[in-house]
Amino acid sequence: MSRTPLVAGNWKLNKTVAEATELVEGIRAGTKDLEGVDLVVAPVATALHPVAAALKGAPIGLAAQNCYPEDTGAFTGELSPLLLADVGCTHCIVGHSERRQLFGETDAGVAAKAQALQAHALVPIVCLGETLEQREAGDTLKVCLGQLDASLDGVTVDGDRLILAYEPVWAIGTGKTASPADAQEVHHALRERLREKHGAAAADAVRILYGGSVKPANAAELLSQPDIDGALVGGASLKAETFVPIAEAAVH
Ligand code: PEP
Repeated sequence: MSRTPLVAGNWKLNKTVAEATELVEGIRAGTKDLEGVDLVVAPVATALHPVAAALKGAPIGLAAQNCYPEDTGAFTGELSPLLLADVGCTHCIVGHSERRQLFGETDAGVAAKAQALQAHALVPIVCLGETLEQREAGDTLKVCLGQLDASLDGVTVDGDRLILAYEPVWAIGTGKTASPADAQEVHHALRERLREKHGAAAADAVRILYGGSVKPANAAELLSQPDIDGALVGGASLKAETFVPIAEAAVH
C-alpha cells in the first residue's frame, strides 16, 4: 500500500509574525513545483492567522502545536479545535514530548485532544516516543506501544483522519538520530499494533512520521524505510533552506 509521504515543520516557540510570514513564503516558493509529498507547517499560535493568509491557495497544511479539548468556556489561556479550525488550521500536533515532559500531558489527555480535533475535522498528529533511560532498559517497544494504545483511546484510526509521529525523546533537538534500522523497527511495530487493533486498511493507510534531529543530510535514508512515511522536523524546519531539501528527500 502506498502512502503519500508527509513532512511537517514544528516551529515550536519561535518566530515573530514577520519572521513566520517570511519563512512560510520561502517554503511556499521553494516547494511550488514539488509533487508527491504533503507538507504541513506548525507555527506558534500568534502566527497561525497570518501564516494561514500567506498560505492561501497553497497545498500546505497548517497545524497548531497544542489544543484544549473543549470548544469554549472558562479555560483561560487555552485554544480549542473549534477556534483552530476557524483560523484555518487543518492539523494539530498533540502529545509532543516537550508537552508531556514540561507540561504534564498524559496519554489520556492526548486521546481527549485527538478526539476533539477529529470532531472538528482537524487531523491530530499524535506524538509518542521513548526516553533514553527507557531505550537503555530495553523498553522501547513496550513504552511506544503502550503510548500508542492509550493515546488512541476513543480516537478514529483512519488514514485521512490521523497521523502518528514516532519521536524518540533522546533524539529531539540533540543532534542524535535513531538509526534508520532502529526507527524502522519501531515504526513497523506501531503499524503491526494498528493492524491488530484497528484492522489492515487502517494500518496500511495511517502515516507514521519520524521525528528527532532530521536534517537534509540524514532525511533520505530515514525516509526510505518502508514504514517511515515522512518526518516531523523541529530545528531544521526554521529555515526554508533546510526544510525544503527534507521535503524533496521524502519524494520517492
Ligand atoms: C520536534 O520537535 O518534533 C523535533 C523532532 O525536533 P528536532 O527536529 O529539532 O529534533
